[in-house]
Amino acid sequence: MKIHVLNTGYFKLDGGAMFGVVPKVIWQKSNPPDENNMCSWAMRSLLIEDGNRLMLIDAGIGDKQNEKFFSHFYRYGNDSLHGNLAKLGFHASDVTDVFLTHLHFDHCGGSIEWNDSKSGYRPTFPSATYWSNEKHWLWATEPNPREKASFLSENILPIQASGQLKFIVRDGDFMEKVFPNMDVLFVDGHTESMMIPHIKYKEKTLVFMADLLPSVGHIPLPYVMGYDTRPLITLKEKASFLENSARENHVLFLEHDSVNECCTLQETEKGVRLNETFDLSTFLS
Ligand SMILES: [Zn+2]
Repeated sequence: MKIHVLNTGYFKLDGGAMFGVVPKVIWQKSNPPDENNMCSWAMRSLLIEDGNRLMLIDAGIGDKQNEKFFSHFYRYGNDSLHGNLAKLGFHASDVTDVFLTHLHFDHCGGSIEWNDSKSGYRPTFPSATYWSNEKHWLWATEPNPREKASFLSENILPIQASGQLKFIVRDGDFMEKVFPNMDVLFVDGHTESMMIPHIKYKEKTLVFMADLLPSVGHIPLPYVMGYDTRPLITLKEKASFLENSARENHVLFLEHDSVNECCTLQETEKGVRLNETFDLSTFLS
């Protein structure tokens, strides 16, 4: 198995929304905001070569929406999905599996693109199976008013129309085995049935954190995003996840942390805290 970081780019979100009830005087020390109170975030995917499969986990924001939409999110830097895929020596048609942790636009937007005449949309990855789950799919296609702005129909409906969509079957908090070297934890605090991949790599476990832990700044328990639909459920899920991860010495891959790719955790008197940060290449070597 070979694992690659595929950074699809950076964007900005309101610092207050990202840290929920935590006051700015506290979060601004570790995440200094700009003059509009916006903080920087990555949209970092993983690309995994395993046997004859090439799996992409999440696909970033994409580039379908209009200028007005993107003006709210201040994308910056030179990273892009296609550009970094090419740098790794691959083309979109090589991808066999696109695993979408959930269908918020910053996680799935890149998986659907304009067709050549810009008259409609098509899957960015023509040969891939797109993985979601039924509960989350129903939740995303009939969105509540609070999450409506995050579930964009142009990111979601073309996946189903393409015939490339498959559902992972949830069995309690885990899934029926679909991938030989990957398990999935289901969590319901951020949104309904978000999927957290646990990848087995040389006796170690690499966890793709998605929005269960956006950055190292979110490790202390009360640091829950304002975006979460069920914050008390997030608290519970986070507490049990962090304790287990510290004990098992899991390596956490941080999709949204603009500085740190990976971290490990440790148990302290104050609760679970950061142990170390490092790049994925350090973990793999
Ligand atoms: Zn996100």
